[in-house]
Amino acid sequence: MNKFDYMEKYGYEQMVYFHDKHTGLKGITVIHDTTLGPALGGTRIWNYECEDDAAIDCLRLARGMTYKNACAGLPLGGGKTVLIGDASTCKSEAYFRAFGRYVQSLNGRYITAEDVNTSTKDMNHIHMETNHVVGLEGKSGNPSPYTALGAFHGIRAALKYKLGSDEIEGRTFAVQGAGQTGYYLVKYLLEHKAKKVYFSEINQKHIDRMNKEHPEVEYIKPEDFFKAEVDVIAPCALGAVLNDNTIPTIKAKIIAGTANNVLADEEKHGQMIKDRGILYAPDFVINAGGVINVYHEIIGYDKNRVMKDVELIYDRLIEIFKISDEQNVSTLSAAKVFAENRIASVAKVRSNYIPR
Ligand code: NAD
Repeated sequence: MNKFDYMEKYGYEQMVYFHDKHTGLKGITVIHDTTLGPALGGTRIWNYECEDDAAIDCLRLARGMTYKNACAGLPLGGGKTVLIGDASTCKSEAYFRAFGRYVQSLNGRYITAEDVNTSTKDMNHIHMETNHVVGLEGKSGNPSPYTALGAFHGIRAALKYKLGSDEIEGRTFAVQGAGQTGYYLVKYLLEHKAKKVYFSEINQKHIDRMNKEHPEVEYIKPEDFFKAEVDVIAPCALGAVLNDNTIPTIKAKIIAGTANNVLADEEKHGQMIKDRGILYAPDFVINAGGVINVYHEIIGYDKNRVMKDVELIYDRLIEIFKISDEQNVSTLSAAKVFAENRIASVAKVRSNYIPR
């Protein structure tokens, strides 16, 4: 893979490789675009088969964060870190402090956070060496309720756009996955008097919890999830669940949930869903509640302000749905247009020289 060609093609700013011989730390930080502000994106630990796999993953994820942060209305660009190693053995205070020093070396151009295989505790170790880290213990807390809240407002926006009213009352829903985010989403739907909520799960503990706390929520088998006869299906479990097999079977008019990378093939399946007349709320827009929550650590955390900010996902999705119709493109492509428009317009604001 020619990395400079790739960086040029997609407008990347910086790619940093780092290694610490004492702790075995090996990683890559990619800064995609900082037009809107410092690049924020989590740190993932993964045992990649080869360096190029790690590089490709990091490049792809960093660019995804540019779109996500732009669509979330945040003054943040996109970046990401991947650390190459086995998370069950490589982690230690020294390991994360060594990494924290590399984050510090970027002088605030990149802000890190939790991701796959990293925790609040790890962020605290990074914080011993740099202030450019969020998701610390005792600060913004568990992002999942906010991610679910964002999905709830996103569902309301989709109902309004597709069915003319954003009322939850009288509507029917199926939620895939009752884990960290799906569990809260079900609660919000019930609190707003959903007519019927179904859920599917594979983890018996989570099935039991739902049955105990909300016996009115009916279980459906995972293989029947996409065929559910409901107004909205909410994928809150896995990626790549919208594919050649599932899309033709969907009966719902709206797809809107918290899960990441739900389209197996962004272009092909985004278009397939549009052609079937189903409204899809793009994943990285509707699931931005968590990143909005963690951003508020930077400006001084206030729960009420976070809730207001998360609610704005509603307005942004309405704009994205309009772009999709006006330009006759999938809602996922429309979200990218929305993000690119925001970046281009803010870049112009910054075109004049201000001495400091
Ligand atoms: P989680 O692991 O807590 O919950 C996922 C649940 O889905 C689990 O209970 C699991 O048993 C269940 N599941 C797995 N396969 C299933 C299947 N085939 N059918 C039905 N259920 C199945 O994860 P989470 O934090 O709720 O995240 C869910 C999705 O949302 C992921 O894609 C994640 O990347 C995304 N997301 C989460 C957050 C957050 O704040 N937690 C933020 C943004 C995006």
